[in-house]
Amino acid sequence: TNIFFRPIEKINAIIESYPKGYAGFKRYIALLDTEPDIMDSPHAKPLDDAKGNIVYSGVRFGYDDERPVLDGIDLFIKAGETVAFVGPSGAGKTTLCSMLPRFYDIQDGAITVDGEDIRDVQLSSLRRQIGIVQQDVFMFSGTLRDNIRYGKLDAADDEVWEAARRAELESFVKDLPEGLDTIVGERGVKLSGGQKQRLSIARMFLKNPPILILDEATSALDTETEASIQRSLYELAEGRTTLIIAHRLATIRHADRIIVVTTEGIEEQGTHEELLQYGGHYANLHGAQHTYI
Ligand code: ATP
Repeated sequence: TNIFFRPIEKINAIIESYPKGYAGFKRYIALLDTEPDIMDSPHAKPLDDAKGNIVYSGVRFGYDDERPVLDGIDLFIKAGETVAFVGPSGAGKTTLCSMLPRFYDIQDGAITVDGEDIRDVQLSSLRRQIGIVQQDVFMFSGTLRDNIRYGKLDAADDEVWEAARRAELESFVKDLPEGLDTIVGERGVKLSGGQKQRLSIARMFLKNPPILILDEATSALDTETEASIQRSLYELAEGRTTLIIAHRLATIRHADRIIVVTTEGIEEQGTHEELLQYGGHYANLHGAQHTYI
């Protein structure tokens, strides 16, 4: 499942880019529906310029009361570290990551960023510290400029170009007769899957958050596009605390740490080499399948 990034101007935004069609749209709406429950506490303070140290302690969460998806999760992620979560479908990797921007509130335990309980900081400032890149890229009907500036609404054109360059979207935009003024979406220029991914990466370069959640694409891009997008993502992750919800073994090899999540919780963690040597779940996954988990 996917984490849906909250649109800044969701009322005005026209959602027209859902590869998964109506089902995706419904999930998006379901998520918006959860929002009123999550509010700033009266003493909430701003969290600005986070370093990105993240701690989960004794975290429990379930979508319903009977069946916790996460139970007793303890996790310490150092600022700047890249951590990849792998494990069977439905184990709770996405759920675990979506607790951080408070898409849902945990039912027991605590999550802190730089030592601050995330329930004690202003939600808007918490979410400014977190960037999300996912396979379903949220796009609205408008110019390419505005779609890229979705990462930073007041960005000047030179910043937009710089973000496009770093996301390897620059030559595509330059080749369009209208450049950044090109209308994209349903009635405008259609973007390919790879270009949409690049657009969302460009947004993140603009937003420049200390913490990044990468929800790795499961839908196939061609191998070459995939590899070049990986390069952009590596560059984006540089210097940030990065949580990857991984679906491909090949792309997580170089993570600082790989965490295997099963329905039982965190089963094992370590570097690629350590986990291979350990000969557990990860080693089995790796032996069984070289590309996909
Ligand atoms: P995948 O690799 O398939 O993306 P995952 O490890 O990320 O899986 P989650 O998406 O976190 O797993 O799902 C964990 C469990 O929670 C699953 O049993 C799933 O059906 C359930 N779940 C996920 N999202 C919701 C939701 N919005 N409402 C109810 N149950 C949910």
